[in-house]
Amino acid sequence: MAASHRVVIIGSGFGGLFATRELAGVKSVEITLIDRTPQHLFQPLLYQVATGILSEGEIAPPTRSILSKQKNVRTVLGEVIDIDVEARTVTSEVLGTTAVIGYDTLIVAAGARTSYFGHDDYAADAPGLKTIEDALELRSRIFGAFELAELETDPVKRAEWLTFVVVGAGATGVEMAGQIAELAHRSLAGNFRQADLKAARIILIDGGDEPLSAFGTKLAARAAKQLGKLGVELWLGTMVDDVDATSIDVVDRAGKHTTIRARTKVWSAGVTAAPLAKVLADRVGLKQIKGGRIPVQRDLTIAGHKDIFVIGDMAGLDDLPGVSPVAIQGGKFVADQIKRRLLGKESGQAFKYFDKGSMATVSRFNAVASIKGIQLDGFVAWVLWLVVHLFYLVGFKNRVTTVFHWLVSFIGSSRSERTGSVPMIPSGRSDDLAVRADLKPAEPPATAAS
Ligand SMILES: Cc1cc2nc3c(=O)[nH]c(=O)nc-3n(C[C@H](O)[C@H](O)[C@H](O)COP(=O)(O)OP(=O)(O)OC[C@H]3O[C@@H](n4cnc5c(N)ncnc54)[C@H](O)[C@@H]3O)c2cc1C
Repeated sequence: MAASHRVVIIGSGFGGLFATRELAGVKSVEITLIDRTPQHLFQPLLYQVATGILSEGEIAPPTRSILSKQKNVRTVLGEVIDIDVEARTVTSEVLGTTAVIGYDTLIVAAGARTSYFGHDDYAADAPGLKTIEDALELRSRIFGAFELAELETDPVKRAEWLTFVVVGAGATGVEMAGQIAELAHRSLAGNFRQADLKAARIILIDGGDEPLSAFGTKLAARAAKQLGKLGVELWLGTMVDDVDATSIDVVDRAGKHTTIRARTKVWSAGVTAAPLAKVLADRVGLKQIKGGRIPVQRDLTIAGHKDIFVIGDMAGLDDLPGVSPVAIQGGKFVADQIKRRLLGKESGQAFKYFDKGSMATVSRFNAVASIKGIQLDGFVAWVLWLVVHLFYLVGFKNRVTTVFHWLVSFIGSSRSERTGSVPMIPSGRSDDLAVRADLKPAEPPATAAS
């Protein structure tokens, strides 16, 4: 019997998962799917976890459960730290234990991470939104800010807690700003007694001239108008100059600096390829291109390495956008290439991306969508957005509970997922909070003299 063809896939995101599924039923293939997390994360809905609409489990089902019926795949937890392209092995690590796994064909689909454009020091005070941990951190910060505003008696400090700055007016930034505005001005306003949540400021900053610039001027203008109705302040042509725990400094095109006093900042200004891209680039002697991506051939292989495919957010080809359909179609394409090779058929065809269009939500009942030259906005686009995202969400149970939570949040005004700690007072800074006098702990009783 012929030995199995070993396919190692790095990353169980959109690219890796769809490549794996496309190889289901190919008995001559033995797949090892490695990821540093045990789940498949549906990133487009991360903002709904960060703002309490959905639970993390709904958008991040366990990968081994998704693939439990696919017999030719083994799911391995581990961070890939090295790729030996001569020996054809990858080395992964978890809790200090390393594993070396051999491959005949390698698919690298390790995605991207938040980019601070050389200012990684901003990360502590302005978290990005790329992982489940990021979403839960932001959720704690956002809901925690409302709690601390309620306790604060100093109006200036209370305003700091009630000012939210989102950096980057792409789809994620617009969705985050819109949802924070809905939380403050609609969903939670009646839950608080001291803090006036309707007075909360949500500021969306971008260096460009319009939000959602990728959607074209008409839809960008519609999104800007809708954001205005929600009470989101749009600061365009504005760049971030500095960030700390209590403020963010920005500068406009005329060079005017402004310090915004704000406790909660969200960074959604950019991404760059995952760190593994550098490891791979060094190993194959290539230079990373724009966004830290690996330049690939038209068939998504690396030049001189027909046995290595790179797909999704890590692959650099024709300026393809960092969106899930590119990763999904890339995953399916390379799986097909592998099948062709194994059947002795001609391979090496060019990957062709089929652009089905883009969409983004601005608020409940309001989205923008650009599909094959047709531009939609408002309620119709929002319903379309819900249907498409539900379709791609993995798992029947998750789809049912997601619909339920959408009804709770969008038709009702509640948020189901508000659990979280309040990590807003860094140690040693608890004096920052001027606690209401009537909430101050009572003096401890004097100890009786013995
Ligand atoms: C907040 C947000 C909203 C988005 N909204 C949309 C949207 O509305 N529509 C859209 O089309 N796209 C959207 N995207 C983009 C889309 O999610 C990505 O383009 C897509 O996930 C890329 O797929 P991928 O397979 O390349 O990488 P990913 O899906 O990111 O998967 C990469 C996987 O690799 C793993 N990994 C990374 N490094 C290693 C390592 N060294 N070892 C082991 N595992 C590793 C990661 O844990 C991850 O599971 C959004 C992204 C974000 C962050």
